[in-house]
Amino acid sequence: MNYPLTLAQIIEHAHRIHGDKQVTTLLPDGTLHRYNYTALYKRVKRLANAVTKLGIQCGDRVATYAANTYQHLELYYAIPCIGAVLHPLNVRLSPVQLAQIIHEAEDKLIFVDSTFAAQFKALQSKVECNEVINFEPMSADANTLYEQLISEAAPAYTWDIRDENWAMGLCYTSGTQGEPRGVLYTHRSVFLHTLAVNQTDVFGLTEADVVLPLVPMFHAMAWGLPYASMFAGADIVLSAAKPACIATLIAETGVTVAAGVPTVWADAYPELRDRKQDISTLRRLIVGGEAMPLSLIEAYEKELGVEVCHAWGMTEMSPTGTFSKLRTAHQSLSDAEKWQIKAKQGRPIPGVELRLAAETSNGFTELPWDGKTIGELQVRSPWTANSYYKVEPTPEHFTTDKWLRTGDIATIDANGYMQIVDRAKAIIRSGGESISSVALETALLKHPDVCEAVVVGIPDEKWGERPVAVVVLAEQADENISDILKQQLTSEFSKFWIPDKFVFVDEIPKTSVGKSDKRAILQMFAPTLNG
Ligand code: AMP
Repeated sequence: MNYPLTLAQIIEHAHRIHGDKQVTTLLPDGTLHRYNYTALYKRVKRLANAVTKLGIQCGDRVATYAANTYQHLELYYAIPCIGAVLHPLNVRLSPVQLAQIIHEAEDKLIFVDSTFAAQFKALQSKVECNEVINFEPMSADANTLYEQLISEAAPAYTWDIRDENWAMGLCYTSGTQGEPRGVLYTHRSVFLHTLAVNQTDVFGLTEADVVLPLVPMFHAMAWGLPYASMFAGADIVLSAAKPACIATLIAETGVTVAAGVPTVWADAYPELRDRKQDISTLRRLIVGGEAMPLSLIEAYEKELGVEVCHAWGMTEMSPTGTFSKLRTAHQSLSDAEKWQIKAKQGRPIPGVELRLAAETSNGFTELPWDGKTIGELQVRSPWTANSYYKVEPTPEHFTTDKWLRTGDIATIDANGYMQIVDRAKAIIRSGGESISSVALETALLKHPDVCEAVVVGIPDEKWGERPVAVVVLAEQADENISDILKQQLTSEFSKFWIPDKFVFVDEIPKTSVGKSDKRAILQMFAPTLNG
């Protein structure tokens, strides 16, 4: 059968086969809202009718400006399953950026969560292209407009996605490397991504899992976890705000798998280590978006007994590209050797092809997978975008033979383990040689007095660029810490790699998705660094 692959199948399967599974939301007031998949399914059908009645048609873009809540999850299904395109807005972008994005996306309707209603007001005056702007306070209060829409809508709706290649979602990149760019996903691409990440050697979610995506639902569709969890029949825990106590949330809901960027796990670590609650259900962290420092992987695995799985991907890839798990052949290695492997970004998941490339005058040549040769990382897969939204593919982002140029610089070893060396734009070029900021950051984080470290290249008349380390120190760090760190790096790297300066700060600025913001660091510290 030529059977279209659509999200309607995911929600139907979740309801029929796993209808009693739970969706729990930690609301901003600290209370838990709970219902099961069947309750969600029934509301999704009513919501589909309500949104259709508001005039939304096939192909229209419908935005959300919302936290991780059950209502957001309902919209994750209702909008695509009527043939419209779900566009989760990054609430951490500036009103000016968001206004441009909404204008480009031509969003017809925006669902706004009450948590962000005040913040949305600053944006609303800048948004001129919407036919309808709908304030939807996403509280559990039955009197809200959202609840009225659902209760007044008809309960029956027949899904009618005729083509699996219909667009279902639109996410913008976080804008770390220039202005945010739109990426359109189709029913087919998300369905296949869901199947791929649900393989045992990838996220490996099962019906017995309780999944906590601490990644915002606007960041690359929450890494596909809302769809993957429900297809697997796992319980889902959504946190509408930063939990006051993550250990309590895990203990109360029995979370088994949690996902987020490394900063989330660095922040949560002291709390989880010193906890009074029982968090023994937690078996795995899925970490991506940025390199997870080896020291943090070790802390979680050794001190908390939680397996850390590093994933690499991009908004352009739905987002999963690689996943880092040990192979049987690694079982005899020492713990330290195992952590070295886990700190790599991992092997391509089934369906994703990677290649390492070097640019020549006639295009690209492929480089060997020897774990040493450094090259530009290029990818292709059924869930990788072939262009940005409303933009013709350019050679800057796509090769003529249709691979995505990731902008990452990496090595790949003979077993297919990929390791990010740097973002192409973050590589420091000093005296014609390359210095990897990531390698220096990883080395700095090995020192117990270093909590966070970012290395940036600042312009230098003689060398072109020189590395400078910006570091957050632990309380009561050694007074001679600069010298100690320099010495430590000298034992690992050539002399010209050693940062010229160490700048100590209270906090590293973060991007809208919680990664270290190197552009902001360069801007903020430019006068200090050059002084
Ligand atoms: P985004 O589209 O915002 O998720 O950003 C994608 C970029 O984040 C990638 O091209 C990488 O530079 C970076 N990234 C994602 N995952 C990882 C990871 N596990 N380790 C290092 N960098 C990562």
